[in-house]
Amino acid sequence: MPTEEADTDDEEPTLPPTEAFRLLSDGTRLQTLQGLVELTDAAGYGSDPVSFSALHAQVDTDDSAHFNYHLQELRDRFVEHTGDGYRARYPARKVVRAIRAGTFTERAALADEPIDGSCPQCGDADLRVSYADEKLHVRCAACETGLTSNDFPPGGFAERSLDDVLFAFDRLVRHRVSFATDGVCPECTARMDGHVTTDIPPEWGYEALPAFDCVRCDFSVLPSFGMLLLDHPDVVAFHRNRGEDLREPPFWELALCVSDRYTTIESREPWRVTVRVPGEEGELVASVEGADVVDVLAE
Ligand SMILES: [Zn+2]
Ligand SMILES: [Zn+2]
Repeated sequence: MPTEEADTDDEEPTLPPTEAFRLLSDGTRLQTLQGLVELTDAAGYGSDPVSFSALHAQVDTDDSAHFNYHLQELRDRFVEHTGDGYRARYPARKVVRAIRAGTFTERAALADEPIDGSCPQCGDADLRVSYADEKLHVRCAACETGLTSNDFPPGGFAERSLDDVLFAFDRLVRHRVSFATDGVCPECTARMDGHVTTDIPPEWGYEALPAFDCVRCDFSVLPSFGMLLLDHPDVVAFHRNRGEDLREPPFWELALCVSDRYTTIESREPWRVTVRVPGEEGELVASVEGADVVDVLAE
């Protein structure tokens, strides 16, 4: 029996979420974390730790014993005390960034605003965007097709025109798919596993989709088979040689990304799918096994 190790097993390496939120459920503590991160950011990379008095000046309390009590509560998990001052630990910076992004507090809304661009399904220029429940939705009002619906933090609206918001949304969704196909969770960086799912809302109109699930935080990314190809070097080169840039139109204007028009299911056990990538002359044919692109060939 390794008795020495039994002692370390009694230690609690992970703070339970309820305890982490209890530690943060106080205005003075949140002001302390925000002040600490602000002072550290302002001082720049490699700066000295923040002194007690400088940190106290960031907080709306003159009572230094009261401030010190809350500061001590934050120590270890959120704040590191190093000899002559304090530093924000990674969880503190994450909390402050989430507050700045408005993830917990802001409620942006947008109802069926007309936007530029045309529908890849019917060709009409009657696209609408709405924002509700922290998701941005793009649909075509002419053929009533939902083109995309994805998480977008409310802070993404800050100091941006609607056109800029749409650009940011396009890039965010593309990057999420890139991360997922590389096996990295865009929310928590843990491993993501890819598979094929048929558990899809019927109104989406897809029989099967690649799905990537995080093993740690349960975040999932559900792109179309076509979206798996946007970053593929052969697909990028195929378009570049024709003077086209797949990054130019937003992904919801590309039929490759928001329909299964070019997708053929070849087998279900195991899942094998081919995706045609159309061009002016000729096309590419991609073979996808499970959620992995295994081959791209010119036809
Ligand atoms: Zn349409
Ligand atoms: Zn995750």
